[in-house]
Amino acid sequence: MTLPVLVLNSGSSSIKFSVYETANGEVAKLLEGAVDGIGSSALGKFWIQGADGVKLVDETPAIPDLETGFALVAGALAQPPFPQPAAIGHRMVCGGPTVTENQRITPELIEEMERYTAFAPLHTPTAIFIMRRAAELFPGVPNFVCLDSYFHRNLPEVTRQLPIPEPYAAMGVRRFGAHGLSYESIVSHLQRENPERFPSRLIVAHLGNGASISAIRGGRGVDTSMGLTPTGGLISGSRTGDIDPGVLLFLLRGLAARLPGTVAAADELEKIVSKQSGLLGVSGLTNDMRSLRAAIGEGNAAARLAVDEFCYVLRKFIGAYTAVLGGLDMLVFTGGIGENDAATRAEACAGLEDMGIILDLARNASRGEATISADGSPVTVRVIPPAEDLMIVGHVLRLMRN
Ligand code: AMP
Repeated sequence: MTLPVLVLNSGSSSIKFSVYETANGEVAKLLEGAVDGIGSSALGKFWIQGADGVKLVDETPAIPDLETGFALVAGALAQPPFPQPAAIGHRMVCGGPTVTENQRITPELIEEMERYTAFAPLHTPTAIFIMRRAAELFPGVPNFVCLDSYFHRNLPEVTRQLPIPEPYAAMGVRRFGAHGLSYESIVSHLQRENPERFPSRLIVAHLGNGASISAIRGGRGVDTSMGLTPTGGLISGSRTGDIDPGVLLFLLRGLAARLPGTVAAADELEKIVSKQSGLLGVSGLTNDMRSLRAAIGEGNAAARLAVDEFCYVLRKFIGAYTAVLGGLDMLVFTGGIGENDAATRAEACAGLEDMGIILDLARNASRGEATISADGSPVTVRVIPPAEDLMIVGHVLRLMRN
């Protein structure tokens, strides 16, 4: 019996989705698609393509709000030739301190997760909206939440606990990490490939529009760069990453002096650190690495500085996590930048030869999954695409069996 599973993965202005057919333990992608440009005054994009890459839907509708965006997805998937899903898996960045396990979604669970919207403010409101609408638009179909924070749930106390007074920690303020489904997929890829030679000391750098890095020992996360929210850690497309808390206080005082009320000042501060900083803030140009590389090619000094800062912080974390792990066996790059931008990989690894990280520049220039370290490099360096949707399907099937 085949069991179509719909995977929903929402961002602040997009909904990505895919349908997998699962039969006799085999999982195959049937289709994928996205609604992009939600809330924009310009026309958005709505497309669906089969596993063979052939476009089945390719439209440019106006998508003024999430309601319209999700109605497009649900409307298209409710009609032939698309199969009615038997289950739906939702990606969720963080469910808060009380929801740390992947599980079936109920109205009570949604309410519980909603209390911790501030822990992933760009992602959680959209994800929760879609969970509620999916329950209405696909009646009777079980929905499951799959958390990015799940991979990091067993972080050691020294990385989990943040250096703040206990009453605030008791409110749930701690390191949750993010991109966990990506990390899980890399660990699972390496385990499947060769369980005997699984790297005991592994660093994975997930470099996408949001960027994070994790130290993994024996397949278990021991540290990760994002903290309570995805704003911490590495520099991201439009997020600061780690920053002196004094900067936040300085900005907050300035904002509070000119805005009515603390909430308005905090909202504005959040916009600054989450949407206007990082690669975008430093370059003054764009959050997009490909565009920054093009600007660097044209001699743009601010773009050069933004990318230099990005690679510098990344190199610093690789060094720190090598120390955390007591040495390193394998470094994996993943995510849009990690997979596609050879220059970022080379610049981040430059000068790490004495730590055993020696790239082969010709291999590094190749595209797709590859080993990019030189023969004889003490640390194996690889590029592996993430497979978050497949991880979600795996969790959904396990939860349904239970
Ligand atoms: P993601 O969030 O994983 O989709 O990654 C998005 C990031 O990957 C953006 O900064 C893109 O510019 C970057 N990216 C995608 N393809 C390339 C490429 N060929 N070269 C450089 N950066 C790329």
